[in-house]
Amino acid sequence: MSKKQSLKELRQYIIDRNPDEPEFHQAVTEVLASLEPVVAKHPEYTNAKLIERICEPERQLMFRVPWLDDDGEVQINRGFRVEFNSALGPYKGGMRFDPSVNLGVVKFLGFEQIFKNALTGMPIGGGKGGSDFDPKGKSDNEVMRFCQSFMTELYRYIGADTDVPAGDIGVGQREIGYLFGQYKRITNHYETGILTGKELGWGGARGRKEATGYGAVYFLQDMLSANDQELKGKKVVVSGTGNVAIYAMEKATELGATVVACSDSDGYVYAPKGLNVDLVKQIKQVDQGRISDYPERSKGKAEYVSNGSIWQVSCDVAMPCATQNELNEDDAKALIDNKVIAVVEGANMPSTPDAIQAFTDAKVLFAPGKAANAGGVAMSAMEMQQNAARESWSFDYSVDQLKTVMCEIHRSCFDTAKQYDRQGDYVFGANAAGFKRVADAMLAFG
Ligand code: GLU
Repeated sequence: MSKKQSLKELRQYIIDRNPDEPEFHQAVTEVLASLEPVVAKHPEYTNAKLIERICEPERQLMFRVPWLDDDGEVQINRGFRVEFNSALGPYKGGMRFDPSVNLGVVKFLGFEQIFKNALTGMPIGGGKGGSDFDPKGKSDNEVMRFCQSFMTELYRYIGADTDVPAGDIGVGQREIGYLFGQYKRITNHYETGILTGKELGWGGARGRKEATGYGAVYFLQDMLSANDQELKGKKVVVSGTGNVAIYAMEKATELGATVVACSDSDGYVYAPKGLNVDLVKQIKQVDQGRISDYPERSKGKAEYVSNGSIWQVSCDVAMPCATQNELNEDDAKALIDNKVIAVVEGANMPSTPDAIQAFTDAKVLFAPGKAANAGGVAMSAMEMQQNAARESWSFDYSVDQLKTVMCEIHRSCFDTAKQYDRQGDYVFGANAAGFKRVADAMLAFG
C-alpha cells in the first residue's frame, strides 16, 4: 500500500486484509487511533511503513491437535501460535484454552501483547497462542493428553531465545506442567526457559501467579496518586474470580480498599462491607466451586445475583478482570451514574470502544489493559531472567521488582500523554509509548 495513505485508510486496508476477525480489528483500530500525532512527529515511521509492518504477524501457526478422551474416542482441536513481533526480544505471551479461541482472537491478543511487553521495558517481543479446547468438564487425564498432543506440534517453534509461551485463560500451572513434561520428553533437554508460569519446584518464579492482579492494583495506586486521590477507603468492584481478579482483590484489600463485588461466568456476589478474599480463594481455587456458594459460606454476609451486570454495583473503582468486551457502553454509563472515579483493566481489552469513549467523555480515569495488566508478563520476563541465571528470587524481592516495573509503566504512559498535550489520557500514553519502543527497534534493524 502507498505510503501517502492516511491512518484511516491504512486501518481499512488492514481490516480488509484480515476479514472475519472482529477482535483483531478492534485492537488495531484502538492503537491506530492513538498514533496520528506520533507519526506526524516521526515521518521516518511512515517512510518505513512501520504501522503496516507491525500489524502483520511475523509468523502465524495453526495446527491440528488430536487427543483421546476418556471413552477412547479421538477428539480434534485446533492449536494456534501467532509470533507477532520479535523486535524487542523472543516472542512472549500466553496461551488460552477456551472454546472462543480462533485466529482472530489470538491475533488480537498477540497484537496487544507487543505493546504491553514493550511498556514493561524488558527484552520481550509479542506473541500469543492457544486452542479452542475447553478444559471445563474434562478429566485430569484428558487435559494431560490434550497438552501432550498440543506440545508435540508446538515444540518445534518455541525456545528460550525464540518464543516463550505462558498461561492465560484455561492454562495454569497444571497445564504448563504437562506441556513442559512433553517438551522435555521429546527434546531430551531440561530447558526451563521455554515456558513461564511454571511451578516453583521446577523453575517457576515466586510471585508469578499474583503478579497480574497485584500489578494492576499498583498501577491503580499510581494513577490515583497522580490525580490527587488515594486507594485507601475506596470501594472496588472486580469482575472475574481467576488469578487476575483474586490477586487484584487481595492487593486492593491489603492497601485499604474495600472490595464489594466479584463474579464468575454465572453471576456475581455483593458484600457491602467487603468480601473475604481468603474465602473466595478457598471456594474458587481449592474447592473448584462457584461464586454462588459464597453467601452461604460467609454466613449470609453477602448477596448473590445470578442475572445482571456486576457493573450496576456502585463503586469508586471498577476493575474488569474477566475477559474481552465484558464491559459495554450501558455498563459504563451505569458506572458513571454511580460516580466511578477510575477503571483499571485487569483483563485484555475488557471494555468495548463505546465504553472507553463514555469513560473518556465523563473524565473517568481509565487504565487500558496493555498497561495495567502488564505485571503478569513482566514477572514472566523475571522468571526467564532467573531461569537463565539458574537463580530463584524471594517473594518480597520479586514483588518489589514488580512494583518498580508497574511504577515505570505508569510514569511512561503519563509522561508520554503529557508530552503530546494529552494529559491524563492513558490509552494514548500506553499506545504511543509502547509503539515508539517497538518502532525504533524495527527502524534500527532496517
Ligand atoms: N497471559 C498473560 C498476558 O496476557 C501473561 C503472558 C506471559 O506471561 O507471557 O499478558
